[in-house]
Amino acid sequence: MRKKKTSYNWYKILLCGLVFFVIGGTVFCMIAESKESAEKRARAEAAQKAEEAAERAEEEARIARKESLSLKPGVPAGTLEPDRDEKIVYLTFDDGPSENTQKILDILKEYNAKATFFITGADEEHRPLIKKAYEEGHTIGLHTYSHNYSEVYASEEAYFKDLEKVGKTAEEQIGFVPYLIRFPGGSSNEVSAKYSQGIMSRLTEKVMEKGYQYYDWNVDSGDGSGAGTEEIKSRSVTERYSHVMILFHDSSTKSATVDALPAVIDYYKERGYEFRAIDRESFVSHHAVKN
Ligand SMILES: [Zn+2]
Repeated sequence: MRKKKTSYNWYKILLCGLVFFVIGGTVFCMIAESKESAEKRARAEAAQKAEEAAERAEEEARIARKESLSLKPGVPAGTLEPDRDEKIVYLTFDDGPSENTQKILDILKEYNAKATFFITGADEEHRPLIKKAYEEGHTIGLHTYSHNYSEVYASEEAYFKDLEKVGKTAEEQIGFVPYLIRFPGGSSNEVSAKYSQGIMSRLTEKVMEKGYQYYDWNVDSGDGSGAGTEEIKSRSVTERYSHVMILFHDSSTKSATVDALPAVIDYYKERGYEFRAIDRESFVSHHAVKN
């Protein structure tokens, strides 16, 4: 009888121990699990916050870029006296977009080089490439809608009417009217005298009053006058300037420009130049006005 009670007590002790072990284990597991899930949650929250901050920063940069490149009367743009210690190439392409634009964009991407496109309204089919170029970090400027000298240089009124039209074309693609322009033939062109005496002297002043900045070039690739690939290569390279602004053309007939481009980029890369898209801080090239 007594022996039976003892063994019953042992059972009780064993059972209690087991219960404690199970409860203790469960509680321990629950604590460990809740700690782990709290850590997991904290990590996920931190990752989400970081992602949101990155998105916000990206959006702010997008807005700042847009603001900076938008037409704003009274806001200065560029400098005629750039920092001589920097070595920068501004590749500029007039007359596009065209069926060659994508090829140019591909080369620029391959070399991680940024450039500037002065657009016209001629090629509707390739117009979405204006947006693509902008989104890939290149700058969009205005070159006139019609590019017809007799039209755009007939009068100041005609010029600005055309400029507003190409401004709208740009706005449809990138969401704003850029402040950057390039005159057909450059500000030094004399052809305009055929249509209106002294118009370039008046236009170069008026565009600045309206908040535009015009960009000429200090290196002419020669592609506008029909140079072939080898000639474009040799005419585009020089060590004369620390800030180089090269005139190229982006039109369907200028495949020699596309062929010459990699060698031109290589030349400047080997000499430590950077390739930048024009912005408000950039060097401004102005020719001497002759009409
Ligand atoms: Zn042109």
